[in-house]
Amino acid sequence: MENNIKNKVVVITGASSGLGEATAKHLSNLGVTVVLGARRTNRIEKLAKEIQASGGKALAIATDVTQRDQVKNLVDTAVEKFGRVDVLLNNAGIMPLSPIDRLNVDEWDKMIDVNIKGVLNGIAAVLPHMKSQKSGHIINTASVAGHKIFSGSTVYSATKFAVRALSEGLRMEVKPYNIRTTIVSPGAVKTELLEHISESDVQQANKDYVEEVGISPDSFARVIAFAISQPEDMDINEIIFRPTAQE
Ligand code: NDP
Repeated sequence: MENNIKNKVVVITGASSGLGEATAKHLSNLGVTVVLGARRTNRIEKLAKEIQASGGKALAIATDVTQRDQVKNLVDTAVEKFGRVDVLLNNAGIMPLSPIDRLNVDEWDKMIDVNIKGVLNGIAAVLPHMKSQKSGHIINTASVAGHKIFSGSTVYSATKFAVRALSEGLRMEVKPYNIRTTIVSPGAVKTELLEHISESDVQQANKDYVEEVGISPDSFARVIAFAISQPEDMDINEIIFRPTAQE
């Protein structure tokens, strides 16, 4: 295997935009087979076709990560079609930031469902396959906000701290099965993430900031490729990256 990345089968949740989409494109250019999960099927089907048209292998599967059976179907279909699953990138996430006293309780629930339960659903779907393969790599997308709490990021930060906590527990517990785990915590990257902030003042402030300092989603894609391409006996446990201009 050239550089330990070519011909791997990588399942990506949240592949319809932003970091997931950029990673799918980057990895397919490196010879990876990508299996794309998201709710917006038109987006992932178009992306799969683009990748196939340029000689790559890609499959799009409608997936809502809050639905355990749909995540299982995503992973099981990848294994049926391509024979194995080498990497799961648990990347789907939402960030409807708001001050806690505005009591946007439905958004709190959604963040917990997508950002925490979605990751757990991915782990549950992939572990049986990786255990029997005696190899695999689970990469979970956290955030700089999973290391540091900002005023207004309370619930989002709590979900990303949780992603880091469960990733570290997972890392220790899956050692007998030769499974690698990586946490990636990005700083400000220009994606559609801010579009779902319902509070207009919060959305505008974040848009202004990301417009000023944010970097391209390719940054994340390169980090993912770096983690995957290390030799099998080396596990990149955690990477934090920020735009150089971010404080
Ligand atoms: P985008 O909004 O561009 O992408 C989010 C992706 O998540 C979309 O593909 C969306 O697909 C998917 N998604 C959301 N809800 C669900 C769901 N219920 N089921 C399946 N897929 C879902 O944002 P980013 O690319 O920026 O976000 C990707 C990850 O990176 C998130 O976990 C985010 O928290 C994290 N992150 C991003 C940072 C940034 O600055 N951009 C910084 C730190 C972390 P669809 O709607 O089609 O289902």
